Amino acid sequence: MPHTVQRYDALAAAKSWSPISNGDFKMQVTEIFGENTLNHEKLKERLPKTVWKELKKTIVEGEPLNSQVADVVSLAMKEWAVEKGATHYTHWFQPLTGATAEKHDSFITPNQGGGAVSEFSGKDLIKGEPDASSFPSGGLRPTFEARGYTAWDPTSPVFLIENQNGKYLCIPTAFASWKGEALDHKTPLLRSVEALNKQAKRALKLFGVETKRVTSTVGSEQEYFLIDQEFFYRRPDLMTSGRTLVGAKPPRGQELDDHYFGSIPDRVLSFMLEVERELYRLGVPVKTRHNEVAPGQFEMAPIFENCNIAADHQQLMMIVLRKTAKRYGFECLLHEKPFDGLNGSGKHLNWSISTKEGQNLLEPGDSPHENMQFLFFFTAVLKAVYKHQDLLRVSIASAGNDHRLGANEAPPAIISAFIGEQLEDIINQLLNGGLKNSKKKGLLGLGTPVLPELPLDAGDRNRTSPFAFTGNKFEFRAVGSSQSVSFPTVVLNTIVAEAIDEYCTKLEAALEKKDFESALKDVLVDGMKEPRKIMFNGDGYSDEWQTEAAERGLLNLKTTADALPYLADEKNIKLFEKYKVLNEAEVHSRLEIWTEQYVTNLTIEVDTTEAIAKTMVYPAAVRYINELGEAVRDTKDLGIENPGVENMLKTMVEAVNNLGTALDELADIQAKLEGGSILEQSVEYKEKVIPAMTKVRDAVDFLERYSPDDYWPLPIYREMLFVK
Ligand code: ADP
Ligand code: MG
Repeated sequence: MPHTVQRYDALAAAKSWSPISNGDFKMQVTEIFGENTLNHEKLKERLPKTVWKELKKTIVEGEPLNSQVADVVSLAMKEWAVEKGATHYTHWFQPLTGATAEKHDSFITPNQGGGAVSEFSGKDLIKGEPDASSFPSGGLRPTFEARGYTAWDPTSPVFLIENQNGKYLCIPTAFASWKGEALDHKTPLLRSVEALNKQAKRALKLFGVETKRVTSTVGSEQEYFLIDQEFFYRRPDLMTSGRTLVGAKPPRGQELDDHYFGSIPDRVLSFMLEVERELYRLGVPVKTRHNEVAPGQFEMAPIFENCNIAADHQQLMMIVLRKTAKRYGFECLLHEKPFDGLNGSGKHLNWSISTKEGQNLLEPGDSPHENMQFLFFFTAVLKAVYKHQDLLRVSIASAGNDHRLGANEAPPAIISAFIGEQLEDIINQLLNGGLKNSKKKGLLGLGTPVLPELPLDAGDRNRTSPFAFTGNKFEFRAVGSSQSVSFPTVVLNTIVAEAIDEYCTKLEAALEKKDFESALKDVLVDGMKEPRKIMFNGDGYSDEWQTEAAERGLLNLKTTADALPYLADEKNIKLFEKYKVLNEAEVHSRLEIWTEQYVTNLTIEVDTTEAIAKTMVYPAAVRYINELGEAVRDTKDLGIENPGVENMLKTMVEAVNNLGTALDELADIQAKLEGGSILEQSVEYKEKVIPAMTKVRDAVDFLERYSPDDYWPLPIYREMLFVK
């Protein structure tokens, strides 16, 4: 019986893709930049002076917004949005799933008499009431009180999202339960900025520096894959899980290293240009683009901004990437590991601390005074990272990221810091007395009046480190490509606030007895004694590092199931409560939600793997076995020896039996799961379900290598990765 080869149809369609007409594509960056966002300058122009003054107090000093001001502001916003053609507005918020959520309301509601009433007042701006029952709350919201509320974040400008048929106004928003507990990523982020601001200002005062405000700055490099949509929709695994759950490695993977920084294929470049234009229009300052290591993998990075805006913009970037890809017949894969055996995707989170006046506190300066200040903040970060390795690991934990970390393509699950030889040398000198040339008055008795020029060059960076100092900022490289940057930033802001706090307390006490430089030196030496163990400039991929890290007593939390429980450690609850970032209930709710997400993702993966194996792979293999059987019988009837076909038949039968056994084992394991608390379930999934699922995959991948190409039901790696 002739069979239609659906896969070949997909291949043909993918190859014959032609660009949508983009003849009128224009990219006048200065003209279009920010045209879809009502930034503070534009908003100011639309408001009476007195109202702007009031609003500014809210924006800068965090004072509550009064309702009259909110009325005027909401009117101005609505006018701007309607002029631009918007019909609806939404409170745009970031539930703990890591995505963004919206519920649209119209500005104008038609009434029965044929007229229309205009809605959207100050009240609607300040507070919305989404039916929040379908968002995870991790026990924070009892079911009888399913509502939550959303509150406008006036520090992040509103913007318009458009499609060919209309536009709507998005209001960046925090999301909380009625009792005020944070159900989202934004609220703790804003709280953590407050904590950092307070402690950093206190420290700067000791250095004689006055500033209005300190915040952290974030710039995140986003990696992603593009594949033709024809393939995507024929892969149930990509559709449900975002990654291929089966699939044999292609004969030509990334071994040739010819993709990295290579020239960008035309269709991809067109896509990138449109993504960039859309982001510019939204006021997102994207800057770089290039191919990444794996075939079909790319990267884009913005210029850094204050962390709250950067986190909103990062979400927008993911949304625009996904949406625009479809217009070019692509699917944008943001998963951490879409293809086994090839590099996965990360999101390098560049992080620093900056004053409102623009001084980067992690920038070594030119004078000894500036350098002392630099060493203060720089070592505070190292101290924080050492003390809270667990929290940093938790902040990047997900089922997807588990495939990357420690897979010799991404940093290991051990958190360490790369700071380069010169700085390590300086810290070691400091710790070893730092007395080499101490008679010469200099920096902390080091004898060096200024720090040596530090290389800002990307070339000699250590790519194997999860947390690297790159000249004037830290780069947290273990962050996953699909995750929100918010929680990793919350952790960094909070733990560094704590380290600065501890430094300040000691320094303030020491200053009563000593001059500034010797007091500071004592504090830094004391502060870095233990934390020096976090410094590691070597090869993070090596086996020796695993051993050495263990000797140093560093944590090595290999999977999400190992890492997540640390979130609710007493040390961490105390930390978050002390700096008013999360209360105990909020910490527990996050632990529960993220563990549940881990288990849910794995459940979906298991179900999909089973479905693919049973309904797609098994039938294809059996068809081939029939054919082989027929051939063996026919040749035998004719009296012809046919060992080749017979052997192939045996191989196929054995492979199908292996698949059958693996599927039985997986089903058996699932049937025997003990259940229990969500944390217990996560451990069972890690220890039993994942290995059983991997066994099914291995059996499927074996069959892929032996089955006739025209029988194979799923688009294969070679096609997905190389057809563009
Ligand atoms: P490269 O990594 O190629 O050397 P850059 O160092 O300029 O490029 O920046 C990489 C990313 O780090 C960009 O997103 C950039 O905006 C961000 N970045 C640069 N400086 C800072 C800073 N002070 N704070 C936060 N992010 C920063
Ligand atoms: Mg970089």
